[in-house]
Amino acid sequence: MGMDIVIVGAGLGGLTVAAALLHSGHRVRVFEQSRRLGEVGAGIQMSANAMKVLDSLGLRPALEPLSVRPKAFEFRRYDTGEMLHRLPLGDLHEQRHGAPYLQMHRADLHDALQRLVRALDPRAITLGARATAIDEGVDDVTVHFDGLPSVHASLVVGADGIKSVVRRHILGDDLPVFTGQVAWRCTVPTARIPHALRTDLVSTIWCGPHNHAVTYYLRGGELLNFVGCVERPWEEESWAARRPWSELDTDYRGWHPMVRAVIEHADSDQCYRWALNNRAPSMRWSSSRVTLLGDAVHATLPYMAQGAAMAIEDAAVLARALALPGPLDARLARYEIHRAPRTARVVRESTEMGELYHIGDAQTMRQAFVDRDIARSRNEWLYPYDPLRVEIG
Ligand SMILES: Cc1cc2nc3c(=O)[nH]c(=O)nc-3n(C[C@H](O)[C@H](O)[C@H](O)COP(=O)(O)OP(=O)(O)OC[C@H]3O[C@@H](n4cnc5c(N)ncnc54)[C@H](O)[C@@H]3O)c2cc1C
Repeated sequence: MGMDIVIVGAGLGGLTVAAALLHSGHRVRVFEQSRRLGEVGAGIQMSANAMKVLDSLGLRPALEPLSVRPKAFEFRRYDTGEMLHRLPLGDLHEQRHGAPYLQMHRADLHDALQRLVRALDPRAITLGARATAIDEGVDDVTVHFDGLPSVHASLVVGADGIKSVVRRHILGDDLPVFTGQVAWRCTVPTARIPHALRTDLVSTIWCGPHNHAVTYYLRGGELLNFVGCVERPWEEESWAARRPWSELDTDYRGWHPMVRAVIEHADSDQCYRWALNNRAPSMRWSSSRVTLLGDAVHATLPYMAQGAAMAIEDAAVLARALALPGPLDARLARYEIHRAPRTARVVRESTEMGELYHIGDAQTMRQAFVDRDIARSRNEWLYPYDPLRVEIG
């Protein structure tokens, strides 16, 4: 028999778990603080481990035509463009791991997910509902909102991102920590970039001293996504903070002509920069009737492009754990015991990637890439994981 489940947050994680739980026959209500649903104007990469879940929800046909299937990850020197390491993707990724590696616009993925949730239950999503507190009883749990009536449920899932209110209920006031790194983001129509400078259809990580940039294509190659990650003393965390183009220009002076071309052709009033925060991974995710998912519990530096992928994996595994027999707290324990080590590894390795990408000195960097062998490592443990079939205890 299905449960009454409340999900706090309609980001990529909250919507995926809503769809997975509705598919499993639960009654699901999603409460989102924003008055409008949407995602920022930036790209997102989805590897096979996450695409398997999106495929199982029936979203692949909608997403694939809007995506790019990159041929590889290429790690290059920030100035000369020298190739440091290559991780083949394309058809090989799908043959090896059972689903494609796709790059898409965040808004397209978010839109596909919210349409799916609304198709499964047109009344599932409530907007303008900011959760403020949780009261957990023996038989049910109550979520309180700012200016709206409280709601009761059998289970609450906190998918409310890095500043999670639901997390505070379970783990207390452990605030996220500034990592010392900030991220620039902008998108540029590919047509503006001179043909001779365009990279192949790959995701390029340009590695420099205390700084790296990522360029990849979106929407069938029409758009170029730029993310630039720079070490800085301190900054306010906000996805919506526009910054002067001149500061972006200064951060990437002397970089490779392809990076320069992206920056020079960016709309000068559309350059965003925000602080990257994270936390030490927690092994505890749940209380008796409340659990966490996505950035609420394992916010990470984005340097393996796996934050949302982990939220999507969480969604599939939580839906499977809830289908197991036994008391609810035991099923939640299965979920967190299974998920915590893998997500902690992503958080740890993403931090290590930041150190690797920012080494600076050319010879040390070359050797570090050889030693690390990213292609072997990710193909061994990261991408083969199947959230729909993996043994969950
Ligand atoms: C530069 C950058 C690049 C990235 N690239 C990738 C990538 O290529 N691939 C990848 O897999 N990941 C990537 N990530 C990570 C990814 O963006 C996040 O991990 C993912 O968006 C987290 O999703 P979420 O649903 O857990 O949280 P969020 O997206 O933060 O969603 C939380 C939702 O909860 C709502 N909310 C918050 N508080 C409340 C409340 N009190 N009441 C009600 N609603 C509330 C918010 O409004 C929001 O809608 C990247 C991140 C960055 C910064």
